[in-house]
Amino acid sequence: MAQFYPIGKLGTPWGPLERQEWLAKQSIQRSYQEEVLSKIQKLAGDFEVVQYGALSYDTEKYPLFALKTPGFGKTGKPLVLVTGGVHGYETSGVQGALRFLETRAKEYAADFDIMVAPCVSPWGYETVNRWNPNAVDPNRSFKKDTDSEEAAAVLKLVSSIELPVVLHMDLHETTDTDESEFRVAKAARDGKESHEPDVVPDGFYTVGDTENPQAEFQAAIIDAVRKVTHIAPPDPKGRIIGEPICQEGVINYPIKTFHVCSSIITGAKFVSTTEVYPDSPKVTDALCNEAQVAAVSGALEFVKQSIRAETATAQA
Ligand SMILES: [Zn+2]
Repeated sequence: MAQFYPIGKLGTPWGPLERQEWLAKQSIQRSYQEEVLSKIQKLAGDFEVVQYGALSYDTEKYPLFALKTPGFGKTGKPLVLVTGGVHGYETSGVQGALRFLETRAKEYAADFDIMVAPCVSPWGYETVNRWNPNAVDPNRSFKKDTDSEEAAAVLKLVSSIELPVVLHMDLHETTDTDESEFRVAKAARDGKESHEPDVVPDGFYTVGDTENPQAEFQAAIIDAVRKVTHIAPPDPKGRIIGEPICQEGVINYPIKTFHVCSSIITGAKFVSTTEVYPDSPKVTDALCNEAQVAAVSGALEFVKQSIRAETATAQA
């Protein structure tokens, strides 16, 4: 059954009035200050905290922060980027990134210089939204002349990194509201007649890059997360969110073409987008955060071993 959204006219893309109508229906549901900024403040003793911008919707309320391991970019260690909350409603993307900083980042700082931007879309975090206030999806907007200021701020931050980045992890969730709300809203916004319902995968999966799939790297992430939570099985057609799986728990996207956040580091050897499923009866919020931590840690472990193997080969 096709589903319809209560804003706009069937078959006509939204203009400014429909976007305003949509925005008027959004409301603050949780506090960026209490749930994110207070945690960043507590981490300031161990990490270098940099403000890389502020959202114009309310610059006082929505400052944007990244945390760096000490000496980031100056130690000669390989550089790592972790982004969370590109989709603000995907809670474990934000809280998992913070949890990684609280629990594991210091240990990996022995081998890597790590930068974490834990909450790219704080307005989306507070209103539990996929889009920004202009009904724009930041995770399709990582491109030149973007109309997402969330994406623009991250692109500017990344352009300030001078050395190559070896690993980028972008932390996301796939939720039941993707199906019940966001995909239906997207069809309406874009003037598409309807949204064909799909199955929400029950479990964790990753999205790699069609151009650079790195199967063993993705498998290492899946194996690390498996110790914490279950991996999403494909649907009867062998697909996850409509894409054929290329290996257990992994689908690939042409990430550059889609302008997703995982495409922002040109030439990064290892990139992955994590997708935690928070609506499973088998998980808790804490478990979802731990799944994100396991994904980042599993990726770092794999990259560490891979660099060691390369160095050993070079020296042999
Ligand atoms: Zn997402």
